[in-house]
Amino acid sequence: MKTLFSVDRETFTRLAQAADRGDQNALQSLRDLWGYDRGEIRCFLCSNIVSERPILGGLIFPSLHDEQTLCGAVICAVCSSLPADERWAQTLARLEEEDGKSLTTVH
Ligand SMILES: [Zn+2]
Repeated sequence: MKTLFSVDRETFTRLAQAADRGDQNALQSLRDLWGYDRGEIRCFLCSNIVSERPILGGLIFPSLHDEQTLCGAVICAVCSSLPADERWAQTLARLEEEDGKSLTTVH
């Protein structure tokens, strides 16, 4: 199951603010974005199954290619509790792997 998504920065900010106010439609949109209703989700960093699914509990970071785009990935509680710099280092390593994979698919 793919756990990485990308979303327009403004859209995400608007949804997050609305969800924070208790807007049910925004909450549902965020759940859809994270893939929370699609069954089993694996941690983007360590591939463990993620059982807890907080609405804003994943990893959010600017796209490496476009700063108006945010990327999000679901991560498990263990990876969430890593120090920020370590988590970021792992994220970059995983992103490089993903890039490598898509390159192999293209060629
Ligand atoms: Zn993890």
